[in-house]
Amino acid sequence: MSRVNSADIQLDTIVRLRKKHPCGSTDWRIVRVGADIGLLCLTCKRKLLVPRGKLLKQIKHIVTLNDE
Ligand SMILES: [Zn+2]
Repeated sequence: MSRVNSADIQLDTIVRLRKKHPCGSTDWRIVRVGADIGLLCLTCKRKLLVPRGKLLKQIKHIVTLNDE
């Protein structure tokens, strides 16, 4: 299983988290990068700020990379 690393945290990347959001979704779009990572829930469109180190542990895997 491939590990998620800091280089995977890029704008518009979709990530799947281990923990479900209260709305039932596990997929989030990265909308802000920095010391804290901004996430947008793909289902309920709510935003969340998570410290980078904490987020890396919560990501199960990368769903898509925006590299078209
Ligand atoms: Zn949600």
